[in-house]
Amino acid sequence: MNQLIITLSKQFPDLSFVPGTTFTWSPKQRQIIYRESASGDAAAWSLLHEVGHALLKHEDFDSDFDLLIMEMEAWERAKALAAAHNIVIDADHIEDCLDTYRDWLYQRSTCPTCTSSSLQTDKRTYECFNCGMEWQVSSSRHCRPYRRRSKLNKVIP
Ligand SMILES: [Zn+2]
Ligand SMILES: [Zn+2]
Repeated sequence: MNQLIITLSKQFPDLSFVPGTTFTWSPKQRQIIYRESASGDAAAWSLLHEVGHALLKHEDFDSDFDLLIMEMEAWERAKALAAAHNIVIDADHIEDCLDTYRDWLYQRSTCPTCTSSSLQTDKRTYECFNCGMEWQVSSSRHCRPYRRRSKLNKVIP
């Protein structure tokens, strides 16, 4: 991964690569934060994924569904970037990552009363059109502990 970081920082001089505890993209600081202890293929793929967010200028999202779309787009961009570096991102890995978001979206959008699938009415609220139930969801968008949102900076996993 270290060699890839060096190559990518040369290729994208406006991005900075900062060691941290988790892979994230911080649009405000234009920083790619990478998990310092990570190594191997999956680490390189995560890094490329975050650069994908950066290249797509992902900043914020209006709904949970938008976040899922952004995740899919970032992987598509990452795949193209990977190809340019002779790296192949495993398709199963991408599906696994997207599945965690799909599960998260499913859990948040399922009506707690009647279990109908419901629509998000704003960033924090869902409403069930079957039984009229309305409920709040947390702003946390992360389903994995290492993807927990930083309270200080706006970051995209
Ligand atoms: Zn309901
Ligand atoms: Zn992402």
